[in-house]
Amino acid sequence: MKASLKKYTIKEIVNGFIYNEFEGKGLFGLSGKLTIQPEYQRNYIYADGKRDVAVIDSLLKGYPLGLIYFNNVTDDKFEVLDGQQRITSIGRFVTNKFTLLDENGYRNNFSSLSLDKQKKIMDSELLVYHCEGEESEIKEWFKTINIAGIPLNDQELLNAIYSGEFVTLAKAEYSKSNNADIQKWSHYVKGTPLRQEYLSTALTWVANSKGWNKDKYMAEHRHNNSISELKTYFNSVIDWVSGVFNDVEKEMCGLEWGRLYETYHTQSYDTEKVSETVRKLYGDPYIKKRNGIFEYILGGETDTKLLEIRIFDEATKQSVYKKQTDEAKANGISNCPYCAMGDTANNTKIWGLKEMDADHVTAWSKGGTTDTRNCQMLCRVHNQAKGNK
Ligand SMILES: [Zn+2]
Repeated sequence: MKASLKKYTIKEIVNGFIYNEFEGKGLFGLSGKLTIQPEYQRNYIYADGKRDVAVIDSLLKGYPLGLIYFNNVTDDKFEVLDGQQRITSIGRFVTNKFTLLDENGYRNNFSSLSLDKQKKIMDSELLVYHCEGEESEIKEWFKTINIAGIPLNDQELLNAIYSGEFVTLAKAEYSKSNNADIQKWSHYVKGTPLRQEYLSTALTWVANSKGWNKDKYMAEHRHNNSISELKTYFNSVIDWVSGVFNDVEKEMCGLEWGRLYETYHTQSYDTEKVSETVRKLYGDPYIKKRNGIFEYILGGETDTKLLEIRIFDEATKQSVYKKQTDEAKANGISNCPYCAMGDTANNTKIWGLKEMDADHVTAWSKGGTTDTRNCQMLCRVHNQAKGNK
């Protein structure tokens, strides 16, 4: 089966659009060359005042509508394989079959829209894949894209939308699985090159460094015939990570290295010491979130939230609560040791178990363990006050 990409304006697509009210389906478009609803298609289901309206809203806002697929029956006869709902919605709108609510609360059909909005809709472009092949092949393929579905992922779609010299060069760099660098990159970047996930990461990193998203970056560079900025930035990030961390751990894969590079690349690190710390933290049974270890180290080993230190279990909390409460009652003081030391009315208050939280007497970062010996129950207020120090 062959497939080729083509662009049409809405104006071309809806030329000669006919909608059959009785059968509830869009019939023809493209000056009669396009059959919108071949027999094997499901019926038009977007006429719900939501999905049909969303299609038109997307056009007015300049959002891409996604790929459309045509089947070439002959050289100038086509059928819609995928995109029937979208095309019918557009055709019905421009023939005044439904209305939109505008920003002032007025309902407009196509004819009552301002001329610039009409033009915006008519000039919008649809990206269409023309497919050629045996009927059985086409139907098989149609089933694959729609049902079993390997739907195009976000980067594959962007590559189609912004197709051109830049995308061609970028794909050559980031989507070949036999690229010798892939082995190294795979320690830090998730996904597979074939599904464009390396390209997606490379674009995200360079775009974010400018405060952009990758869509904007691709739009800006669409007609460039160089990808040197993209490559240089990506290599800088990878070189930086592999320079700071000599060890390669599986939890490093897929971290936001672009963001971490932007935040920390101007700081200097002693790689020997970093490596020692990584090994120490990997051996620490109280750390639940190992992929937080790298940012924790980069940030100067202060933000323990990144590591999700193991918390006390219910049995420990209950036994510590019982011991503290029994002693407090015997002495006529509060079972929160901090309340007991204070001079408010709370200094004799006995809190319920559910009103208290478990606290590390000696903090984890100072070597404190997560067991009964290092656990005390505090009232919520004092636990929070201690946690914030
Ligand atoms: Zn208290």
